[in-house]
Amino acid sequence: VLGTIYDHGPISRAEIARRTELTRTTVSGVVADLLASGLTREVGRGPSTGGKAPILLELVADGRYLIGLDLGDKTFNGALVNLRGEAVHTVARDVDNRDGEAALTLVLEIVDQLLAEADRPVLGIGIGTAGLIDTNVGMVIEAVNLDWRDVPLGTLVHRRSGLPVYVANDSKAAALAAFVFGEARTDNLVVIKVGKGIGAGIVIGGRLFQGDGFGAGEIGHMTMESEGALCRCGRLGCLETLASSRAILARLAGSAIDPEAPLREVARAAASGDAQVLTVVRQAGAALGRAIGWLISVLDIERVVLIGQVTELGEPWLVAVQHAARASALPVLGRSAVIEIGEQGDAGVMLGASALLMTRELGINLAPLHPVSGRPGSLAAAEELAG
Ligand SMILES: [Zn+2]
Repeated sequence: VLGTIYDHGPISRAEIARRTELTRTTVSGVVADLLASGLTREVGRGPSTGGKAPILLELVADGRYLIGLDLGDKTFNGALVNLRGEAVHTVARDVDNRDGEAALTLVLEIVDQLLAEADRPVLGIGIGTAGLIDTNVGMVIEAVNLDWRDVPLGTLVHRRSGLPVYVANDSKAAALAAFVFGEARTDNLVVIKVGKGIGAGIVIGGRLFQGDGFGAGEIGHMTMESEGALCRCGRLGCLETLASSRAILARLAGSAIDPEAPLREVARAAASGDAQVLTVVRQAGAALGRAIGWLISVLDIERVVLIGQVTELGEPWLVAVQHAARASALPVLGRSAVIEIGEQGDAGVMLGASALLMTRELGINLAPLHPVSGRPGSLAAAEELAG
């Protein structure tokens, strides 16, 4: 019921009953609970269809806050977010090469800071981080950059805050954000985060596809060149050795570009017509594009959203990605594919982490957009809130 109000409000009780295939009595009971819990409110009357004009219901976006965290390469970002994904308060802390226990302490400090700012109930905490994550138990199986292995991040943050905590891979979180809060929502979507590492989040039929061991979308270590450069995973010629920010800066060694420079400077040099830089940018884009072409061939997903710092390379990079993707998939699939740079930018991972939490805690929005009959959802969570 809450999911229907979220997607289709303002909406009448009768229309909710029609869409969910629940009885009107059931809907009225659930709505009474949602009104009492402050998640929903009445907003005037809709057009009459003969009888008395129906009262309309809508979501109270600020009825609850969520905490979203993005544990990025250089910065840990956190935000208090409302139920529509609007950030109410944000915190950013430099990582300064902290890893292990120190990185964990930084996470807990950010959570404390955000909780102190919350002036209404906080539903829980969602965390997006690079690495292999068991989302069911919030366990970081492996996050190379943070030197975390089998870290029960969800449990540790829960102990500190007393709130439900969900942990997800950053690319997967961003995919969820594009699906839940994005402008052009589709049931199927791939989001690829291209930074120091490269990973994809795959939404199929409105659900995040995780694979059997939470590794779905780990495309950064697909072998692209069997005789290629050495990758941090110990093998040769992975996609990351060709298309990541590290690879791009490494290939520009000896040029005028400082290897520690932000990619914006690489973009500036390319825009000013530096031929060497432009070639490197296009080659990196083409390598990623080939990998995307394979993804499109396997999944036939038309919408691919690119995020992460490498997207700062802009147009020349994006065009190379698009060309190579189209060239390495069946023409009919390649032609219809839309490959674009995401609108949510850096906020995507944070929003996605909170979206994950929202879908788990409120049971909304993880179902296909156009369900054939009703949508699965956990009313238990909403009832508990109404409690
Ligand atoms: Zn590798």
